[in-house]
Amino acid sequence: MRLSRYFLPILRETPKEAEIVSHRLMLRAGLLRQESSGIYAWLPLGKRVLDKVCAVIREEQDRSGAIELLMPTIQSAELWRESGRYDDYGKEMLRIKDRHERDMLYGPTNEEMITEIFRAYVRSYRDLPRNLYHIQWKFRDEVRPRFGVMRSREFLMKDAYSFDIDQDGARHSYNRMFVAYLRTFERLGLRAIPMVADTGPIGGNLSHEFIILADTGESEVFGHEDYLTKTIPSADVDFDDRAGLQSIVDDWTSLYAATSEKHDETAFAEVPEAKRLSARGIEVGHIFYFGTKYSEPMNAVVTGPDGKDVPVHMGSYGIGPSRLVAGIIEASHDDAGIIWPEGIAPFQVGIANLKVGDAATDAACQTIYDGLKKAGVDVLYDDTEERPGAKFATMDLIGLPWQVIVGPKGLAGGTVELKNRKTGEREQLSPESALARLAG
Ligand code: ATP
Ligand code: MG
Repeated sequence: MRLSRYFLPILRETPKEAEIVSHRLMLRAGLLRQESSGIYAWLPLGKRVLDKVCAVIREEQDRSGAIELLMPTIQSAELWRESGRYDDYGKEMLRIKDRHERDMLYGPTNEEMITEIFRAYVRSYRDLPRNLYHIQWKFRDEVRPRFGVMRSREFLMKDAYSFDIDQDGARHSYNRMFVAYLRTFERLGLRAIPMVADTGPIGGNLSHEFIILADTGESEVFGHEDYLTKTIPSADVDFDDRAGLQSIVDDWTSLYAATSEKHDETAFAEVPEAKRLSARGIEVGHIFYFGTKYSEPMNAVVTGPDGKDVPVHMGSYGIGPSRLVAGIIEASHDDAGIIWPEGIAPFQVGIANLKVGDAATDAACQTIYDGLKKAGVDVLYDDTEERPGAKFATMDLIGLPWQVIVGPKGLAGGTVELKNRKTGEREQLSPESALARLAG
């Protein structure tokens, strides 16, 4: 992509309304624009990052055996009357009437709808287990939307729903998601700690929140420091191996970790003092087992092996991709701007042409640009008339992992500069070597 033809509205001033660093950087780097309170437009650079986050989530959901579908954002109130939640959900739910005066709502979550889909088709225990997920916008009319997309009213959620014949099966489904979540956050460059959690209005009795530590986090959390260095299950983990998954989950829940709602001072006191972790955190994912809470009132039953009908055991599993983009920035930035982890960066490489119009500089940039594109590397080429200082500032602000800086001085000596955004390391090398390195 040529910057001269792109849409990247960089703000030089720090926006006053933004209280935390991720919100500031998202506005300054042209990722995001507020359209009304808690409702944001994702500008092109932000959209690229959001898509990459979703791609990682999707890969790990698929790996664990979950199946993607897409449910609508607008739901009928009828469904929510069946489960009894229409009245319970309260003011966070955006209620809408259509032209026929029918009660509709903008979905804050999809338990009812997925249960309705499931019961329409599945009749036998032989068709279980299943886990269905989608990545869809949600609306919750939060009392205090704040911190940009960290706590917004409209936000993206990956929500998965598992269906099993009994609690044992549901436990295995829960464990699959538990392990998929560990892998997902690791791939996003984050260390998330699973913490015993409250189940809230969704209900049930087995639940973990996945929390990343950050000073700006809204939750107060307590845990064991060893969580910060524990090994994440590898990509070839066998999701069908019940005992194997259970032992991973047992291991990952053996140390103390809880949010303030579930905090137990006595248990925490047993953690060796030097290992006690008391910090603030951001909830990036939440998994629940809630049994037959929806299947019973909504009559989602299957015929079991003994020929009797039983309500299915369900769980739900949420991750907030839009909140995660902000969370990744909270975890990875410096004074100059964002530092994207490799897998999430909107472009892998930025090329800065320090003298647009100089034949040799233009030609060298063009060769590197074409070569990278041909190799399938996402590259942003700054071919604008801006001064070098402004180009460096923009490159650092938008945080692409690699920068190639090309100017007449270097080229006279046969070199361009390759800069690693994260380490700050710079290297002079020939344009061919730079290309080979980045395309390799
Ligand atoms: P919170 O306690 O932060 O309000 P929640 O418990 O209401 O979260 P869930 O219903 O479990 O959240 O939703 C699953 C995921 O969706 C959360 O882990 C979070 O990543 C994301 N999420 C929830 N509410 C918001 C929001 N207002 N803005 C952005 N992301 C959100
Ligand atoms: Mg909430």
